[in-house]
Amino acid sequence: MRCSGTPRAPAAPGPITLLTMSQPPPEPARRKILVVEDEPTLADAVLARLNAAGFDTAYAATGPAAITAAREERPDALVLDVMLPGFDGLEVCRRIQAEQPLPVLMLTARDAESDLLAGLGAGADDYLTKPFSMRELIARITALLRRVDLVRAQALKANGADAEDADPGAPLELGSAEHPLTVDRARRRVRADGAEVHLTPIEFDLLLSLARRPGQVVSRQSLLAEVWDWADASGTRTVDSHVKALRKKIGAERIRTVHGVGYSLESGVEAGSS
Ligand code: CA
Repeated sequence: MRCSGTPRAPAAPGPITLLTMSQPPPEPARRKILVVEDEPTLADAVLARLNAAGFDTAYAATGPAAITAAREERPDALVLDVMLPGFDGLEVCRRIQAEQPLPVLMLTARDAESDLLAGLGAGADDYLTKPFSMRELIARITALLRRVDLVRAQALKANGADAEDADPGAPLELGSAEHPLTVDRARRRVRADGAEVHLTPIEFDLLLSLARRPGQVVSRQSLLAEVWDWADASGTRTVDSHVKALRKKIGAERIRTVHGVGYSLESGVEAGSS
């Protein structure tokens, strides 16, 4: 997909100068964010801030309008309110994810954990609880898009280079003989007890972070840094919520909580055969 029109006209021709510190890096293709929010004041503020940060935007105020806009506008990511007229953000998330997987940042007015977990279960990748700072919104969206780019790049690499990359891309066999857990890094697929488990991109990365060090305790700060690209420890609740969502999908007993520290994936039991 190509964006229409270049955002900035080149400077008037003049003497050729070498790259200087003040020269901006080449601008990446503009990303389009679909904002679904029925409170006009908040919607306006979010749209304005996204535009100021260099994103293209589209807008919908109801559940049904969001489905239509997602089809017509082909956004790169969604900012999605939970409480909406028509049907709610969870339903929007489910329907959109069924058609075209998209990174979704959920906005929730309530701090209820069940709400957040439902959002994550419906396929949201991350969430913000209202009220939130616009700076944080931009940071989260940017991180989500970066993650998607990374996943695409890895997928391309995996498709193009199985022979040489056979080892780093080999599936990780975890869990016990009775309860196997397979993490296929190259194809980003997970099987628990032989059945395929559908994880969001963030859930997959979270599981992979733990699976790289089975049996070891990984701190919430480390997970936050590795999975979300955040150094700020204030976001560790995000880790907890996503671990809960992940446990629901792969089995609660597989991830051990080490209170005050972090999480540990039950270590793999060496299978007799290779
Ligand atoms: Ca609302």
